[in-house]
Amino acid sequence: MSELRRDPIVGRWVIIAERRAERPVAIMDEEERDVGPSACPLCPGKERNTPPEVFAIRPDCSEPNTPGWLIRVVPNKYPALTIEGDLNRRGLGMFDLMNGVGAHEVIIETPEHNARLPDLPLQQIKLVLVAYRERIIDLRNDKRFIYILVFRNYRAAAGASLLHPHSQLIAIAITPEIVKRKLESARAHFMEKQRCLFCDLLSQELRLGERVVLETEHFVVLSPFAARFPYELHIYPKAHCHDFVLMNEEQLEDFARTLKRILCCVRDTLNDPPYNYVLHTSPNPVPRLGRPDYWQTLPYDYHWHLEFIPRLTRVAGFEWGTGFYINPVPPELAAEVLRGELSSKGA
Ligand SMILES: [Zn+2]
Ligand SMILES: [Zn+2]
Repeated sequence: MSELRRDPIVGRWVIIAERRAERPVAIMDEEERDVGPSACPLCPGKERNTPPEVFAIRPDCSEPNTPGWLIRVVPNKYPALTIEGDLNRRGLGMFDLMNGVGAHEVIIETPEHNARLPDLPLQQIKLVLVAYRERIIDLRNDKRFIYILVFRNYRAAAGASLLHPHSQLIAIAITPEIVKRKLESARAHFMEKQRCLFCDLLSQELRLGERVVLETEHFVVLSPFAARFPYELHIYPKAHCHDFVLMNEEQLEDFARTLKRILCCVRDTLNDPPYNYVLHTSPNPVPRLGRPDYWQTLPYDYHWHLEFIPRLTRVAGFEWGTGFYINPVPPELAAEVLRGELSSKGA
């Protein structure tokens, strides 16, 4: 079992996951080496090569773990965290550690090995989002899991080990440091002003317009004022909402359309770069044992969003040493370029 260890100097948790070293060497190469559908464990017909599915969309009502699915979610074969066991939070002298209990799942986005997410039909992208939603809802029933993170790595340079379109999900028993900082900042703003920090930010950005890439009926895509990376983009729902799983059908469809347009636009403008996206949504709202007040104002002060980071620059010594990022492309310029591309498509 892996172990979570807390750095006593900076308070950062690290997952020590020895098992992951067993991953085949080829998939850790920087260069992309597509194994092809015949050797791909995520392709239809290879259902026995993955752990049994935990969720699937099967319009033909086919049996679990057989072909016939449109979406399939399976535990990661090389999980960073394991679902069984006690957390066993403990101290070891000045160190804090706990067992690596959590869930690590792979969301297979299409049966088609060579498809790419932005090219999938809108309806299929919507099903991917439905799978995110259903897995988050299900995993929150497990009170051990405080935070569930959905993320997507595209291409080897962004950490993807397989070419077959997929996203991943990790459920963990702690609030990640980055999320905690966002939650605390949002709560402090709300306590002072009785308003949502993100709603305030959105109304200002929409008024100024210079960093807004796209505005749809329900969503805003913008490059943030202090973007860390060139063409970093954030997608926010326009209506205040703390939790991704609360989207209605109409919003879900608009989100799928927005995501598709942005992914197509970035691919066409920036030569199909590797990227990561990360869904920031509410932590598990189930009250924690002994902490009934935890994140009590969450529905009022937090605002879910998706962060999209094209991997156009490498994080180097200066960034590691300072936590500062050097971004050679001002977000205003990135937004202007992407707006231009979107309008030239007339989309
Ligand atoms: Zn495949
Ligand atoms: Zn808000």
